[in-house]
This record gives sequence, structure tokens and C-alpha cells, in this order.
Amino acid sequence: MGRYPLFADLSGLPVLVVGGGSVAERKAAALLDAGARVRVGAPQLHHALAQWAVEGRIEHLEGEFQPAWLEGVWLVIAATDDRAINAEVAACADARRIFANVVDDPGLSSFQVPAVIDRAPLTIAISTAGAAPVLARRLREKLEAELDHALGPLIALAQRHRPAIARRLPDLAARRRFYDWLHDGPVMALMRNAQPEQAEQTLLEALREPAQTRVSTGSVVLVGAGPGAPGLLTLQALRALNEADVILHDQLVSPEILALARRDADRVDVGKRGGGKHTPQEHVHHLLLQHAQAGRRVVRLKGGDPFVFGRGGEEMEFLRQHGIAFEVVPGITAAIACAAYAGIALTHREHAQSVRLLTAHGKGSLETMDWPALAQDRQTLAIYMAVARLDTLTANLLAHGCAADTPFALIENGTRPQQRVLRGTLQQLPALARRHAIRAPALLILGTVAAMADDNAWFGTLLRDSGAA
Ligand code: SAH
Repeated sequence: MGRYPLFADLSGLPVLVVGGGSVAERKAAALLDAGARVRVGAPQLHHALAQWAVEGRIEHLEGEFQPAWLEGVWLVIAATDDRAINAEVAACADARRIFANVVDDPGLSSFQVPAVIDRAPLTIAISTAGAAPVLARRLREKLEAELDHALGPLIALAQRHRPAIARRLPDLAARRRFYDWLHDGPVMALMRNAQPEQAEQTLLEALREPAQTRVSTGSVVLVGAGPGAPGLLTLQALRALNEADVILHDQLVSPEILALARRDADRVDVGKRGGGKHTPQEHVHHLLLQHAQAGRRVVRLKGGDPFVFGRGGEEMEFLRQHGIAFEVVPGITAAIACAAYAGIALTHREHAQSVRLLTAHGKGSLETMDWPALAQDRQTLAIYMAVARLDTLTANLLAHGCAADTPFALIENGTRPQQRVLRGTLQQLPALARRHAIRAPALLILGTVAAMADDNAWFGTLLRDSGAA
């Protein structure tokens, strides 16, 4: 039989929770959030319940359940671990026409508490009438991931201005368009950016000139896709992928991650071409501008973090100069991810006081490095794009006094199923990398922490090579 869903206003109303343990505590907390006057009946209160009773936030009815506890309450939740007591509570409540829920026992319950997604004032409640609690939980997780937390404040803002919006836009279709614009346009973007005052300002300006809201300008989100494992994507990145009209991605971004994006989004690979040449940066800028000015939501998807050797900084400045709204979603950068997946603590206090992120690629990077500083100990070097320059790198470090037996770990395809971790000492680094044919993408970690991989590597393949022929 179906259930009749309702959202009850319990503010100021007495309710009863029977039970003094952690389940009762969760139920009491939710009822307190709804503003109810909570009585908790149990021989003893545990955990936070005891504290709340002392503070007067709840009333403690001491002892075994008595029907008199139900006097004057609007609903009751039985949360004891004794089925007989729970059944008695339910029966007494039924006799008094009080709604009763018995935790995890739909058969005894006259109402069920749904799984809830809270973006107050928006509340989404899911019920399977007790038939499939696991499904309800999965749906909840999905919606939790999908719905931005800024949605609550946006709805509250719209609510405050609802009468003004209705007055200004008496035509229903026009009003709908305005609300669509609120959710998809700059007001929501400002809410996400934690700028509620500017959001309100933008709403008020739009109310003065509602016609302008239709010329929607696009926006760009610079998104870090992390090192490759889809699970290392942030929720924010996933949301951006869900909303994208166009995705401009690097080659480094794994297919598994691209598969998570909105199905009908255009995917444009602006990474390395067959010949090994990059799409020129100017062309990427041009594409960003073109798509954003056409009103599209553009996601610029980069491996790792957009601001770590990713040219995200240049793109952001370009967008600002051209008046395109942007957001930046950080990603887990290769150094952090590869270290974690190789069992290396980058700043283990017994080994290192600092970690440096370096690149061996680009505008004369190796030629201009401060080698004496890099050769010092008690630090960890994390070197990006190093594979092609291992000879020069090693020679320079050794020449500036870096110990020949300094441990290295070279992590190829970090966090991906093909991950390999090559371990050895600095003097053997170029020869070992050649022997094992290490290819990009690979990250080099240099410093005594690198040896931690020998005992702690927990993912993919560990190659320990002493260098003997
Ligand atoms: N913005 C990226 C770095 C781009 S530069 C980030 O924050 O991670 C590209 C270099 O990053 C590669 O040459 C390699 O050194 C490193 N890299 C990126 N992903 C990697 C991975 N999964 N495993 C190992 N190294 C990786």
C-alpha cells in the first residue's frame, strides 16, 4: 500500500523518543532541528542525550516506558533495542491515535522517517515504504553529490524577493524564465562563490531590467580532474562536469573521468596531438572565449590541479581580461596523489621539513634552477615532467653535493591501474628508468621519504632495483 508523504511542522510541539542510546540520539537531534519540544524516555541517557538533558534542551523521562509518557505528544519514535518495548510503545500510540515510528521496523510503524537531503529551505525526502532502504540510501548519496550546497541560500534569497519578482513579472512565462536565470546564471554562480551580497545585488539589478537577463553570457570553470582515478575527482568537479555544455580537456585526463560528464556535452581534446605537439595556448584561449561568448557553460578540464604546472593561471587571467565569469575547482595534484599511492609521506617529520614542487620542462627550467638549494637535505623534491631530462637532472644534483645514495621513487601512471613505482638511488636514476622503460606521465620523488615506498607501497607494481647488472 502506498504512503501519504507529508512535511510536518513540529515547531513548539511535544514529541517523544523512547530509548537512550545512539539511535535515539540521532532521532532526538533531527526533531530538535525541526524545533520540536523533545522528551526522551529511558532508564538512562547516553552520549549527547545526557548532556542535552543537563542543558535543558530535552526533557528526560526516567525509567521504563509508561503509557502516560504519551500524554500530549504529537508523535513518538521508539528507538530501544527491545522489540517488546517497541511494540508496546507502538500499540499504546495507536490506541491514542498518535503517529509512531519504530526504528527499523516498518511493520510496527504508522509513519516512516525518510532519507533526507537537506538544502534548507529545500528538503528532499525519499521513501521506499521500508521496502528497499539500501536503494533509498543510494539515491540519497546521488542527490547529495549532485546538489550544490549553495542551492539552499539561493532558494532563501529568491524567497525573500518573491513578492517583488511576482509584481515585476506578472506574466507567468516571463517569471519562469527569470527563475531559470536565477538558477543557471550569475546569481547562483555568486552564491557558489560565497558572495551572497553581490548575488542579491545582481538579482535586484536584474529585477530593474528583466529583459537583460535573457542575453545569457557563458562561463568557464577551470577544473582539476586529479591524477586519473575517477574516485579522486572532487564533488565540485563532478557537478561542473554534469552541467557542462562544452568540455575542453587535456590529453592527461583519463577516459573514465570523461565518461562521467553530461552525455551530450561536446568534448574537445586540446591536449597533445599525434605528432606530439600541443594545441597552442592561444588557440585554447580562443576556444574558451568563443564558447563562453556563445553563452555556453565551458569546463576547462586539466589533469591534477589547474594551477600546478597546468597553465590555469594564464587562462584565468585571460578570462578576467575578457570579462568572462569563471570559477576554479582545485584538483589533487600528481605529487600529492602519487606520494599517497606509493606509500610515501611527503613531509614525514623524521625526514623532511618541506616539499618542493618542480618541473623539469619548459622555458629553460633546468638551466635556471637553484641547484645548491635543491641539493640540500631534509627536504623532499617532487619533480613533474622529469622523464625526458633525468640525465641532466641527476648530473646537476650530484655536482651540487646531493648524496649519491639519496633515495628516489619514480611513479609512472600514478593512481591508475597500470601504476608502477620504481625505487632506487639517485646515482642510478637515469639507468634504472631506461632499464624499466618508464614513460610519461611519471612523477619523480627525491629525498629520504622516497624509501618509505619499499615497505608501504600498497597500489600497483613496486619495482625495487639495486642497479646490479
Ligand atoms: N596539473 C597537473 C600537472 C600537469 S604537468 C597536476 O597538478 O598534476 C604533467 C605532469 O604531471 C606529467 O608529466 C607528470 O610528471 C605529472 N603527472 C600527472 N598525472 C600523473 C600521474 N597520474 N602519474 C604520474 N605523474 C603524473
